[in-house]
Amino acid sequence: MTTQPPTLALVVVDVEVCFAEGGTLPVAGGAAVAAAVTAHLAAHPQRYTRVVASRDWHDPLPGTNDGHFASPGTAPDYVRTWPEHGVAGTPDAEYHPDLRLPAGTVHVVKGMGRADYSAFDGVQLDTLGTGAPRGVLDALAGVEVVEVVGIATDHCVRATALAAAEAGFRVRVLTDLTAGVAVPTTIAALTELAQAGVELTTSTAVTS
Ligand SMILES: [Zn+2]
Repeated sequence: MTTQPPTLALVVVDVEVCFAEGGTLPVAGGAAVAAAVTAHLAAHPQRYTRVVASRDWHDPLPGTNDGHFASPGTAPDYVRTWPEHGVAGTPDAEYHPDLRLPAGTVHVVKGMGRADYSAFDGVQLDTLGTGAPRGVLDALAGVEVVEVVGIATDHCVRATALAAAEAGFRVRVLTDLTAGVAVPTTIAALTELAQAGVELTTSTAVTS
């Protein structure tokens, strides 16, 4: 009797223009992550049963992101308050041009009028504004292992991986396919993830 391999999903967190070099909230290495995720998907076309990609997708109306965007005239602290970024409908909120997602990718948007760090707090784009919005969990039916990549390691990747673990998935973060805002918070996040049972590995360790 052969053992079936586990069913895998890849969650690509916030690999969008705003979080890469040249965007409104640039994370060093963001563009390289976009290209590396594309290469990873091309190298492993059969690996994932499901690919989910999230984006920060903040409302364009002034005042709707209070507390997440730094108030006008004040400096963001880059921990809880941020420069204005990822406003829905602007090029800043599009996927990074070096990210190529396969057909069938489930597109999730988050941060509509609030600070959403976890992709699990988002809504599938094609169900946004309907009476029955679907989320990430709906896209992961039957999935056993969730691999998480993207931006930023110390914020939205961290929150997404923790949420996946809490939801009962076996979770891996492919750390070479992530980029962090700052070194101390990235180290703290990786430590917290390991303590939560998330496996920290790299895309080069992936064999199938
Ligand atoms: Zn945001």
